[in-house]
Amino acid sequence: MNASLMQIYNAIEKSPSVMLFRHRRIDGDCVGATKGLKGIIQATWPDKKVYIIDNEKSEYLSFMGKDDEEVDDEVYKKSLGIVIDVGNAERISNQKYALCSPIIKIDHHINKEKYGDIQWVEEDRSSACEMIAHLYSVFKDKLKITSEAATHIYTGMLTDSGRFQYEGVTGDTMRLAGLMLDQGIDTETLNARLYMRDFDQLKFKAFIYENMRLTPGGVAYIHVTKEIQARFGLSFESASASISSLSDIKDVLCWLAFIDADDGEIRVRLRSRFAHINGIAEKYHGGGHACASGATVYSPEEMKQLIDDADKHISAYKSTHDGWM
Ligand code: AMP
Repeated sequence: MNASLMQIYNAIEKSPSVMLFRHRRIDGDCVGATKGLKGIIQATWPDKKVYIIDNEKSEYLSFMGKDDEEVDDEVYKKSLGIVIDVGNAERISNQKYALCSPIIKIDHHINKEKYGDIQWVEEDRSSACEMIAHLYSVFKDKLKITSEAATHIYTGMLTDSGRFQYEGVTGDTMRLAGLMLDQGIDTETLNARLYMRDFDQLKFKAFIYENMRLTPGGVAYIHVTKEIQARFGLSFESASASISSLSDIKDVLCWLAFIDADDGEIRVRLRSRFAHINGIAEKYHGGGHACASGATVYSPEEMKQLIDDADKHISAYKSTHDGWM
C-alpha cells in the first residue's frame, strides 16, 4: 500500500473536524470527490464534523446538492484540511484552506507543486474520484459508504474520463467503478442528468459546427465571444461546454474553446488525443493533464499565438508519429 494512504486514513480517523476543498471552476470530479469522501467519513464516523465550504455554483451540477454554510475561522484552525483535485494551491477555490492543519493533497494532475503536509498524487489516475474509490477499497473493512456517496464518486469517474474513454482509464478504473456501482447507483437517472440537453443547447451546438475554424495542422477551435453568449442566452458554464462538441473530428488531434469571461480574460479549454498539450497550457498561464488542460489568454493576439503554437505542435506530432487518426 502507498504509505501516504495509511497516513491519510490515520489523519482522518483522529480528526474530530475535517474540511474538504476543491478547485475553482468546479467540475463533476472535484465536486464528486469532495462530496463522496464527505459521505464516506460521515457514514463511518457519524460524530465527526465534515465541511465543504465553496461559494461556486454550477447549474449543471446542482443535482449533486448544496455545500455547507461558511463557518468561523476558528473551525478552520481546528480542522484537518483535505484538498482534492487541485494541482496548484492558487487554484483552490476557498483560500482559507491554509488555516487548516495538517493539510493533505490528493490529486491526479501533473505534480508541479507540492503543497500541504501529506501528499498523495497519482498522475495516471483517470480522476480524483477514482482515487477516493481506491482509498475506500483499500480500507473497505473499516470504512462505510452510502449509495449517495458512491453516486458522487461514480459521477466524477464518469465525467472526468469522458464516460470511460480517455487514455487514463485502466482495469483498475473499471474495477473501482464496479465497486461503486455495487453500492446501488441509479445510472439511468444519473446519465439523463449529465447528458440530456435542452433543445436550445443543441442549436448552439449546430452553431459551433457552422462556425468553428480548422488550422492546416489539424487544430479545431471556437471563440465563444460575449456577443455569442448573449445571442444564445448562455451561462459561462454552458459556453464552456462547447469544447466537447469539437472532440470527435477525424484528423483533428487538438481542439480548443476560447470563452470570453466577465473580467475581460479569455478562458481557454484545451483537449487532445495522442499528442500531449499541457506544455501549451503552461505557456499560457495554465496547466492540467497531458490531454486535457486549461489556460487563460488576455487578448485576441495572445489567442492567435496560442492557436499558432498548437498548430505547429500538432503538425510536428503528425510528421513524427504514425497511427494517429
Ligand atoms: P477544464 O478545461 O477547465 O476542464 O480543465 C481541464 C483540466 O485542466 C482540469 O483537470 C483542470 O483542473 C486543469 N486546469 C484548468 N485550468 C487550469 C489552470 N489555469 N492551471 C492549472 N490547471 C488547470
